[in-house]
Parts: sequence; structure tokens; C-alpha cells
Amino acid sequence: MGFKILTAEVAHESNTFSRVATDEQAFRNRYFLTGDEAVNERGDKNTGLAGFLDAGRAHGWRIDHVLSAAAGPSGKVTTAAFDWLCDPIVEAAGKKDYDGILLALHGAMVTDLFDDGEGELLRRLRAVTGDDIPLAITLDLHANVSEQMCELANVVVSYKTYPHVDMRERGRQAGEILQRCLAREIQPRTIRVDCPMLEEVNGGRTDVGPMRDWLRAAGERERRADTFAVSINGGFASADIPDAGPTVLVTAEGDMDAHRVFAQSIADEIWGHRHQVLNDYLDVDAAAGIALKFESRDGPLIIADYADNPGAGAYGDSTELLRALLDAGVSNACFGPMVDAEAAMLLHQHREGERVRLKLGGKIDPRFGGGPLELEAELVLKSEGDYVGGGLMLGGLRASFGPTAVIRVAGIEILVTSVAQQILDRQQFEAFGIRPQSRRVVALKSMQHFRADFEPFAGRVIVCDSGALCTPDYRKLNYTRVRRPIFPLDLD
Ligand SMILES: [Zn+2]
Repeated sequence: MGFKILTAEVAHESNTFSRVATDEQAFRNRYFLTGDEAVNERGDKNTGLAGFLDAGRAHGWRIDHVLSAAAGPSGKVTTAAFDWLCDPIVEAAGKKDYDGILLALHGAMVTDLFDDGEGELLRRLRAVTGDDIPLAITLDLHANVSEQMCELANVVVSYKTYPHVDMRERGRQAGEILQRCLAREIQPRTIRVDCPMLEEVNGGRTDVGPMRDWLRAAGERERRADTFAVSINGGFASADIPDAGPTVLVTAEGDMDAHRVFAQSIADEIWGHRHQVLNDYLDVDAAAGIALKFESRDGPLIIADYADNPGAGAYGDSTELLRALLDAGVSNACFGPMVDAEAAMLLHQHREGERVRLKLGGKIDPRFGGGPLELEAELVLKSEGDYVGGGLMLGGLRASFGPTAVIRVAGIEILVTSVAQQILDRQQFEAFGIRPQSRRVVALKSMQHFRADFEPFAGRVIVCDSGALCTPDYRKLNYTRVRRPIFPLDLD
């Protein structure tokens, strides 16, 4: 008989500056699936779970999958929600009849009680399993990795792509390393080196810039007989915790001092490139000015609002970019999402085709990204907000914006949603009757993930900072708990 393996997926990227607490419902809004339900929905998609199952098939494992859960990035996870996620996993592990454990985690979860949510989950697991059973985890490239995580997990494998398109591949890699541990071929542990920075300043972009070279060096290092995974995490700067920042991890055996020297060499490179920012962050009026003059011979102008990216825990209700586009008179444009459940509910009380007066967006914290816009809009479409992804990141996966409406104001179609999600798949527009390929201007809220599905048809891509919660200008945030001194707050 093959080995018996316990698996689970738990993901949250916690923006500790957000006023929106992350509770059980927030997970149910993204996904919360148990056992076979999770395997059926996610087991053959681009997910960590699918990679675990690939390894399991290759090695004849018997897999018990406990649950798959994720919430959209938002504020700290409540104690009740955290316990609700951890308890079934810890309880299953406590039965003690597993040979190994494989977890797909994010690595930047903060709870009301714990700065290191993943580390606390691993601590609870080790409390019932002891230290001997091999435990492998995958992490997002934007993990804020703690020493605790590296001490408690034998194997740590982080994504190597941003946009993230290698979830399944990394899951499989972690599974293959776990198999070698179970077969007693290897006995790896994971070491960690950090840099005094809030994040790798390009957020870990892997399509351009120096991160590509560092990841190539990591991949080459993984070919050594004593090295099984090398991970370079860009960090997640919207977390006011001591461990925020980039890290280099090496899962290996043998001469750990030599592995540490290698990890430090990459960390030194990251530090050395701290001033090399690849994005040109325009202000919203400059972006609107470019949009007004843009000629879309080779495809639309894509304007990414970096700062209001719900994928990093911004509210998605910043109005500044929309205001600028309306003020400039930009036409044949679409904009999404404007996350405003109150407005969506109001619109659902009207019929399609009606004109509706409403206050749109800017309601959660107008200090970041502007207050509500008073508009008269034509209601184009109402929807329950469900869609199925079509691109590299979400292909085949179901998701929902909750009650959703499309409104038209002057020359701009606006996607008004109830649930905050970043735009990273064309289906997030197309499912609601908006074809971004045929628009002159596409304004969306995302930092980098949109590139996977939107760059192929874009005429030009620009990035702006609306001043919303995920502004790249960290001095606008009140950091009190990160380790000091740190770049760019104190160090230059
Ligand atoms: Zn990420």
C-alpha cells in the first residue's frame, strides 16, 4: 500500500490596515469546500491541490483531503474564523494514522491573535503529530515567511511566478519532495534569510526585471543533489507585523552553512536593487489624459489602478480613477470593479434600462482613494455575479461577485459588485456583457495579475496610484509594528 497523506488548502493574505474583518462569511464568499467537494471543484484545475493529487497518483498515495478555503484579501482573520478553519485539519491530523501532511497555504495570514497565522496552524498541527511526521507546504510568492513556519515545516515551496500561474506545478513539486522524505531518501529542512525591506520593490514581478534572474538561479540551485526547493518571496507590505518583507528560503540537506551563503547572496541582490522600480505610477489625472488621446489601433489602453487592488486587501471602492476618467470625458471605456454592495442592492431594485441616481463607491474609508461619486446612471444589466474563469489563473474555476450590476455613465460602462475581487480574467467582464477587447479603454483594479489575461490583447498598459489603501507610497500608512529600521520607511 502507498503512503497515507493528509492534505488541505487554506489561503488568506491579510491587509492589517483594512477596516474589513475577515470572518467565516468572507471565506464562504470566495470558497470553502470540504473533502470530495473540494477535489471535484479544484482537483483538476491550476491549484495546489491538483498538484498534490498529481504526486499522489504517481506514488500510489491514499489521500484524505480535509478542506480548501480562501477569502479575498482583507483585514485580519477573526479568531472564530481561524479556529473554524484549523480545527478540522488539526483534528484529522490527531488521528495519527498519516504518513505525511501536505498543505497549500498563502503565508501572509494575520489573525486577531496571531501575526503568523500559518505558523500558528503548523504549531497546532505539530502539537498533535509530534515532530517526526514529514510536513510540506506551498506558499504564495507574496508570503511574509516566519522562522516559525520554516522550523515547523520540513519542506517549503513558494510560487515562482507573478502573475501566479504555477500553483499546480509547485504543489506537485512539494508532493515529490514529500515522497522522497517518506521513502527515507532525504531528510531536508528549510532555512530562511530576510532583508530589511517591506517588500521586494517590484512586488516580485516575474515577467520583467531582476526577479527573473534570481528565480533562474534558484531553479539551477534546485538541480543540486542536496537541494530540493529554493523559494524567493517578494513579501506583502500591507501587513504591519515584524516578519513583513522578502525572504529567500532553501529546503535542503547537507552543508546548511553553504545553503545559507547562497540564500544570502540572493537576499543581497534584492537589497541592491531596492531603488529599481519597474512600474511608473501615474496620478489618476495623468492616466485619464493618456486615455482621452489614446488611439486603439493595436488594442485597448489598459489602466491598472494598483492602489485599489482588492487582491491585496484594498476595498475596491476607490473613486478617484473613475472621477478622473469622467472629468476628462473618456468614452468607449469600461471600468471594474467598483465594489459597493449598497449600490448594487439599490440597482437591483430597478429595471434594466432605467436611469438611477446613486452615490457610488468611496464609502468604507474615503481618506484612501476618494469619497462617493453622485451620479445618474443607466442600468444596463443586473446579475447574481457568478462567472467561470477562462484565463491561465482562474481557468475553469467558478467564482462570484455577489449581486452585481453594470451601469453606464457618459461613455463608461461600470461593473458594480458586492464582493471585492481583483480583475485578473476577461470573464470577469465578459460574463456581464462587457467585451474588454472591443473597448478603447479598460480601467481595472489589479497590480500585476491582470497581465496574464489582458496583456495579450492590450494596445498599451499603464499603471496608476489612486491613493487607495494599497498605495505604493508606504509613508501614507501608519506602520508601528514592523521591525525597524526598514526600507523605505527609515533606510534609503
Ligand atoms: Zn500573491
